Amino acid sequence: MSDNSICIVPKLSGYPNNKTKSNEILNWLLSRDIVKPNVSDCVLGSENGYAISEGAKIVSVFPGDLPYRLITNGLEITIGRAIFAGPPDEIICPACKENIVEDEWNVSDWAEYRSDNMLCPKCKQESEISTYIFAPEWGFSDLGFTFWNWSEFTAEFIQEFKNKLGCEITIVYCHL
Ligand SMILES: [Zn+2]
Repeated sequence: MSDNSICIVPKLSGYPNNKTKSNEILNWLLSRDIVKPNVSDCVLGSENGYAISEGAKIVSVFPGDLPYRLITNGLEITIGRAIFAGPPDEIICPACKENIVEDEWNVSDWAEYRSDNMLCPKCKQESEISTYIFAPEWGFSDLGFTFWNWSEFTAEFIQEFKNKLGCEITIVYCHL
């Protein structure tokens, strides 16, 4: 079967003290029994996941759809610059407002820490990558929280997560 993921990503290319913050968020999730404290092989991206736990039911809109019976059911924490995305339908340049998805756009300078910007192939202006509009939405940061096969979170939980991070966030839904 195919896997889905929900990623919660700060709208900051470089999150200050991302490692410290990742521990703080993990401890918060553990304190509410949302994930299990021991690291296990329960995510797709790496072998370091935190499996789903009972408290997840309280923060989910559809607790009956939570992946308790799946192997891939955990939280994966990403530290280090990453792009959280599915294939885009549209990428709008903040300068010329054109859709550049069919042009030769390139995110590798951003991914390899050479720049926080992306060059628009249409108007040749550089803009901070998060000011482009990606549809469906993409996340760009050096910190991210990916929940594998979880069902939709409640608005309260998303708000609380945002408060903990102290910045705007992007929520990226991926279907593999
Ligand atoms: Zn442009």
